[in-house]
Amino acid sequence: MDIYNHPTFAMACQQFDLVADRLQIPAGDRDRLKYPKRAMVVTLPIHCEDGSTKVYTGYRVQHHLSLGPTKGGLRFHPDVTLGEVAALAMWMSWKCALTGLPYGGAKGGIACDPHRLPQCELERLTRRYTQEMIPFIGPQVDIMAPDMGTNEQIMAWMMDTYSVHMGYTVPSIVTGKPIGLGGSQGRREATGRGVAYLINRACDTIGLDLGQATVAVQGYGNVGSVAALALARYGAKIVAITDAFGGVQNARGLDLRKLDTHVAAQRTVAGFAEAEPITNEQLLVAPCDILVPAAMERQITGRNAANLKCRILAEGANGPTTPEADAILEQRGDVFVIPDILCNAGGVVVSYFEWVQDLQSFFWGETEVTDKLFRILENAFTQVVSHSRKQKISMRMAALCVGIKRVQEAKRVRGLFP
Ligand code: GLU
Repeated sequence: MDIYNHPTFAMACQQFDLVADRLQIPAGDRDRLKYPKRAMVVTLPIHCEDGSTKVYTGYRVQHHLSLGPTKGGLRFHPDVTLGEVAALAMWMSWKCALTGLPYGGAKGGIACDPHRLPQCELERLTRRYTQEMIPFIGPQVDIMAPDMGTNEQIMAWMMDTYSVHMGYTVPSIVTGKPIGLGGSQGRREATGRGVAYLINRACDTIGLDLGQATVAVQGYGNVGSVAALALARYGAKIVAITDAFGGVQNARGLDLRKLDTHVAAQRTVAGFAEAEPITNEQLLVAPCDILVPAAMERQITGRNAANLKCRILAEGANGPTTPEADAILEQRGDVFVIPDILCNAGGVVVSYFEWVQDLQSFFWGETEVTDKLFRILENAFTQVVSHSRKQKISMRMAALCVGIKRVQEAKRVRGLFP
């Protein structure tokens, strides 16, 4: 499948093959499980502010349709490609299956830099993308959500574009919307809160006192910032944070309230007064109890895995650790990994709640949302830990096995048509 040629897709396939070998999935089922059901590439011309016309490329990959509609975020980033999106769609499938959501995985993206686009161009691009996707999406077909570089405003424009086309309001076409348009309480915080909840559970499991722990966070977007705040509330000390523009560290702990004021003005953590600078590469190997990669894929690799100092690696990002790094960490045996498809699942779980609330036009309070979220995460965490112990396999392998087996079983009982 040359069209998906990308190191992140190769990595997702490598992970899948390891699991398929372990589960002894028959050859005929492997490709059927691995390759995306549908992939769309669209050309997106828009009028720019200066009167010129610019053309962007948009993608959407729907990985499998065996358990329900497909579900997954939309990413705005200059480096987005079809192969990257396909890998992220595959991971969404295993994530939804692991947490028991009635969805297949999907992911989309537009190759653009949202921070450099004027608001009006961002809106036109979002609306044009949604328009081009109309034949392939729907509340029972494929439901988008925020991912890197997208937010509630983008979801509101998508929902509006789709609704105008249909002639009536369709809140359930996207999740992660503003609450006033049918968004869910607690959706924005869901991923970061889930990460912090699972870290707390991991601390119980390995006997680490979270109230005394030090934390380093890579990425200070919606996931990293909320996770950091939630962990600080549990009593942990956040000693280092980086983002795309730089990083800061303070062994005595960063004051997150002051940091947030700085970020609101500067749009980066870099330059925060009460700290020393730190690079991304330094942060990953910095002394800390808990490391939270919450940015891009393939950050922890064969090159730096041996030097990690943390006891818990909590993957807020999708695919931050390569299979080469996994092998090193497994050999070391001293790092407890909360794998991405479990660690960051809080976001899609509350997206599911949002979709259910929209379909019923009946909305829940924040306590109800968070309570139900933690129950689902608890259940998934317990299953993965017990599978990993029973089978003597890594946490990643255990999580992927549980997820992939569910999809395989769904495909088996449904059969192959015709
Ligand atoms: N983009 C998020 C993820 O990677 C959330 C997807 C969703 O809510 O559908 O899990």
